[in-house]
Amino acid sequence: MTTTNLIRLLTLLVLFIGLAVPGHAQEESAADPAAETPAEVALPNVIDARVTSAEDRARLVIDLAARTEFAFVSLTGPDRLAIDVRAGTFSVPEPEGVPAGDAGLVSGYVVEQAGPDRIRTTLTLAAPAQVQQAYVLDPFEDQPARLVVDLIPATAEEFAANVERDLSTSASLSQPAQSTPAGGSELAIATKPLVVIDPGHGGIDSGAEASGGIKEKDIVLAFSLRLQELLMESGRFDVALTREDDTYLRLEERVALARGNKADLFISIHADSFQQPEIRGASVYTRDENATDVLDKVLADNENKSDVIAGFSMPQLTPEVVDILVDLMRREMRVQSFRAAQAIVHQLEPSVALRRFPVRQADFFVLQSPDVPSVLVELGFLSNASDMANLMQSDWRDRTADALARGISTYFDDLEDEE
Ligand code: ZN
Repeated sequence: MTTTNLIRLLTLLVLFIGLAVPGHAQEESAADPAAETPAEVALPNVIDARVTSAEDRARLVIDLAARTEFAFVSLTGPDRLAIDVRAGTFSVPEPEGVPAGDAGLVSGYVVEQAGPDRIRTTLTLAAPAQVQQAYVLDPFEDQPARLVVDLIPATAEEFAANVERDLSTSASLSQPAQSTPAGGSELAIATKPLVVIDPGHGGIDSGAEASGGIKEKDIVLAFSLRLQELLMESGRFDVALTREDDTYLRLEERVALARGNKADLFISIHADSFQQPEIRGASVYTRDENATDVLDKVLADNENKSDVIAGFSMPQLTPEVVDILVDLMRREMRVQSFRAAQAIVHQLEPSVALRRFPVRQADFFVLQSPDVPSVLVELGFLSNASDMANLMQSDWRDRTADALARGISTYFDDLEDEE
């Protein structure tokens, strides 16, 4: 339901005049202030557009020569979503359509010149869909600027309502969006989910060390503080850090902090080294289902097992029942952790270099909580020169923290949609 409100807000934020009335776009664009843009102001070009589509989500990525504005509307007959970007020309190869076997929400798309200052991409929908989020990424290194539009399924009623609203609001709104928030601050939720960020290492434990003496513990702390800032700015989360300075924490203390505060997501941040310096890119780990099961040891060593289910306030449970409940919780948390990892990787993908198979599993101690979905993000490798250069750049860190914040938001969007 929160997503629906968000979509409503997004839709209102958007919109160029005329876009909602196909066939009239040409006349109406004359009334658009954008049409009066002086000729000497160079508009960026659209370099490429591509679509990936599955049953539960689809993504449009438009590569741009520079950052620009955009707008989108829902259209019927057939059901479509049209996305305009303020741009001069386009050099997109003829869209090949959505890759075969990849059908899902979007069945095809076209890119066309919709006016002297706008390029329109029209997605044909195989099923009702709505924009989950849309945002523009700045160019970075060899990557161009990008517009990313994520779609999720909608009910027929939601889609019809979006069409209706786009038709009625497009005549009065002409302010295009720079980007849409991943979690609007006006959409306050009664109790905010708690995200615990765990900057790896600290104190006497420096973590990995790069050739110039740069330490992992410092890099991941700077990154975590930035991520905390972004999540707090969204107004949607409570955020806690396991350490806010150069403090040493035992691994079980990190786990205990997340569990003791009933965190809704635990995210451990690292930038380790690898023996092979050519290995690079970001990845997200969940605990390996098949790894040696140290949970029982953790539980046995550090706490009474019944603590695990303290939140359930059940009377006197036999050890067998406790075991079953712990096992059920652990299984559920593994599913949730995997979903969080996927959501984060999905948002990292257009922004930063990823490892091959970026959702990974390993037996990380800090991912043991049976009652808190837990992931570990490797931002990159200090042993790789390109990763190292990125990690030292605040631009790169901001971009990556943005993507992580979006991934966290979409993970919670999906959870709320299920409620
Ligand atoms: Zn580490």
